[in-house]
Amino acid sequence: MDFAKQYRAKNGNLQFKPSDAWLTDVIESDNSTGFCLACGETVDGVEPDAQGYTCPHCHALKVYGAEELYNRGLYFDADHAEDIARGRFA
Ligand SMILES: [Zn+2]
Repeated sequence: MDFAKQYRAKNGNLQFKPSDAWLTDVIESDNSTGFCLACGETVDGVEPDAQGYTCPHCHALKVYGAEELYNRGLYFDADHAEDIARGRFA
């Protein structure tokens, strides 16, 4: 899962967020793929501005559209992904 990273949200829950490169790819292509913040899976057929859709994989209400994620800053910089991984597992 190179396009997603786990992180700890402000509420203390572990969540996932996609890379900026993945978001850009989705937005510039069909723009109908969502992302589940709870399990890190992608979901097809999700509008760009979707919020809180039910995830077909984990059933959490955590699926967001690509543009919505981008607008909320819910992504990580793929160029610094190595640094993030190093910090977590060091
Ligand atoms: Zn999920």
